[in-house]
Amino acid sequence: MSVKRTLSRVVYGSRYDRIPRGQRVYVRPGERIAREIQWRLRIRRAPVLRFQDYRERTLLGEIEEFVTCHLCGETRQQPMFQPTGDKQGWSYRVVRCPACGFLYRNPNIRPDRLGDLYATGYDGFLTGRYAVSRQRRHRLTMDAFGPVLSSGQGRRLLDFGCGTGLFLRLAERRGFDAAGIDRSPDSVAAANERLTSAKAHAGALEDVPAVAAGGFDVITLWSVLARLPRPIDDFRRLRSLLAPGGVLLVLTVNAASLQLKAYGSGWSGFTGNHLMFYSAETVPALLRRTGFAGVAFAPFYGDTVEASTTRLPERLSRRLRRNVEISGGGNMLRALAFADDEAVERWGANLQVRRLS
Ligand SMILES: [Zn+2]
Repeated sequence: MSVKRTLSRVVYGSRYDRIPRGQRVYVRPGERIAREIQWRLRIRRAPVLRFQDYRERTLLGEIEEFVTCHLCGETRQQPMFQPTGDKQGWSYRVVRCPACGFLYRNPNIRPDRLGDLYATGYDGFLTGRYAVSRQRRHRLTMDAFGPVLSSGQGRRLLDFGCGTGLFLRLAERRGFDAAGIDRSPDSVAAANERLTSAKAHAGALEDVPAVAAGGFDVITLWSVLARLPRPIDDFRRLRSLLAPGGVLLVLTVNAASLQLKAYGSGWSGFTGNHLMFYSAETVPALLRRTGFAGVAFAPFYGDTVEASTTRLPERLSRRLRRNVEISGGGNMLRALAFADDEAVERWGANLQVRRLS
């Protein structure tokens, strides 16, 4: 038995052994505070390197490039994690920006070589049980932001990175005039087979006239943000495609997750195709720089807790919710960005909107 497991056995006994790994850190007494202290110590211990020094001591892969902080321009690097996918054979380095706290992969993937990440079986897994749980996550996230996504009423929606159209199906059923865009022609073809009124397009935003014309009331990014190598450019473009009063919905892994603080390089958010890791601290910087007026966040408790299918006893389920709220440390980040003041007035009524201008 490892030292860590022995220690947790001493502290907690076997009472929490049967609770899934993703929930355990939120329900064991005192763990939230312990992990937050551990996190602060980890940051304090990690060296802060000049860009030049970091480059000199770090290997650069063929499809990679060194980058600086996309959000604030800081060049210094704080090496933090080195996740690996043992079975898939990938490994990369994650640094922290010592100025704004942003976590990102460095070296990053060169945008022109992004296709290499998805060369094999990219969307083959979007079927069966995976699809069912993904669609549940879509519904729960839409519900978290109230009326803006509950009924389309013919409003125009763009799903950026639509994949095989799982979300577009839901959007068309809810009455949105929906379109999607994705760089993978195979996924787009599969999407159009299952869609009735919605239409998926292959290419980049600027390539497709029907999309580039803009005027969208809602834009959605489902697990896409972490994969963007040039988020500022993309968000400027997305902002320009929104109609007055428009909103943009983001679901991405949460860099403030208590699970990241607990599991480090073994965190589930460090997947082979993720490039940047956002939190409620860093998303506002991205939105402010790209012309949005406000943002609201909805805490993420985990799909089974939100859908009331969890096996956690009620007492622990309450503790989990409380710890997610206090720490902002749910494993996913859900944000609704408002294009302008009109959008804040129209859709922000029952949300805690953080103004960005
Ligand atoms: Zn920064």
